[in-house]
Amino acid sequence: MTAGTAAVTTTSGFDTLALAAPILEAIKAAGYTEPTPVQARAVPEALNGRDLLVSSQTGSGKTAAFMLPALQLLTKPHEKSGRGPRILVLTPTRELAVQVTKAAETYGRNLRVKTMSVVGGMPYPLQNRLLKIGVDILVATPGRLLDQMNAGRIDLSRLQLLVLDEADRMLDMGFKDELEAIVAKVPKTRQTLLFSATLEQGIVKLAGALLKDPLRIAVDTAQTRHENISQRLHFADDMGHKNRLLESILNNADMLQAIVFTSTKRAADQLAQELHSQGHSAAAMHGDMNQRARNHTLQALRRGTLKVLVATDVAARGIDVQGISHVINYDLPTQAEDYVHRIGRTGRAGRNGIAISFANVRDHYMVKSIERFTTQKIEVTAIAGLEPKMRAFSKPAPRGARPGGGKSYGKPSGAPGRREGFGGYAKRDGRPAGRSAARTSPYSK
Ligand code: AMP
Repeated sequence: MTAGTAAVTTTSGFDTLALAAPILEAIKAAGYTEPTPVQARAVPEALNGRDLLVSSQTGSGKTAAFMLPALQLLTKPHEKSGRGPRILVLTPTRELAVQVTKAAETYGRNLRVKTMSVVGGMPYPLQNRLLKIGVDILVATPGRLLDQMNAGRIDLSRLQLLVLDEADRMLDMGFKDELEAIVAKVPKTRQTLLFSATLEQGIVKLAGALLKDPLRIAVDTAQTRHENISQRLHFADDMGHKNRLLESILNNADMLQAIVFTSTKRAADQLAQELHSQGHSAAAMHGDMNQRARNHTLQALRRGTLKVLVATDVAARGIDVQGISHVINYDLPTQAEDYVHRIGRTGRAGRNGIAISFANVRDHYMVKSIERFTTQKIEVTAIAGLEPKMRAFSKPAPRGARPGGGKSYGKPSGAPGRREGFGGYAKRDGRPAGRSAARTSPYSK
């Protein structure tokens, strides 16, 4: 099946998409005037019943790209009566499931649509009760869904549309077996839409098994320039230096809200506690926290009462809070893909964002690998008064470096402190931006 409408809809707004009036009204109420590129390309094809393999980033409007056709499907009654879902969206994390559920409610506000999420951490009795009532759109994480399916509490025989959101992440998180087990139990007649930030081998293989003659849509790949996100790199000599840099950044007037990434849950807890004791409105979020605590933290972030979230990769996945002005990689990620997901937490919905990474001399290869993945160079910057002592990556290959890879990174032509960038903070404030910077923090509580 083909659709000839995609080219027309790219520039002419939502009205030209063949969506029902109540959906168009809800889109208008959400304040959207033009479809994003992924919406313009995917919606008409999905409405025509085509299976899609879409590569696009979070922040690109991908949720509406699958949710709008899903809702359109619900405007017509199903020929088979029953309580089972007609749409199933699988997400890697609970947070993303919550976002998707909210999106379904936003875009489906003028339709009578029952949406629920089935995610780990939610009490079974409540989940069981809700499932009995019946649901149109089910948003689920694979593990809990499979539990509920195996317990016979979910009837998927009416399923018409299966969406795999952030499929690459689901594979990374080891959900491959669960995905296969779930898909084996859904009707073969279903339509399937697969969304992934990258279209690497594992995804293509999965798509081959799950999709029928899919149309490939590549909108925002990892290589897309995050033009609204200013990416910077600070060399940090040691932990003390990292902490001083962090404090300076958090105290800067540009900082509205930040997500700070650490590599371990323990480090997230410790850093959040430290920031809190320094007077910042800070909290940690990671996989060891129960769902209630995570929801509570996320709500505070959305309301803007929480200024600094210290998080691990998995926990922060899918967070869509428009006030996030800064993403700070206190520790670099171990995968280049995660870097893209991390920085995508800022610059949401067309805003500008700042992504700052701290690196030491041993991070040479990780930084290189990120730059290769994004095909972008990260600008090396320094804060006046907090310049690093080390000479960045310009020395001979660091210990443990692979032979042949000794090309210097970032071509530091002088002390990084003399470069453009964060030094500007000090100029603007008229004072050094280090620890000595007066505590005018609006973030202190
Ligand atoms: P997503 O990539 O689905 O996580 O969406 C990122 C953000 O973009 C969300 O805050 C959406 O509400 C917003 N958004 C999605 N589609 C549009 C649109 N067509 N116009 C403006 N904002 C949008």
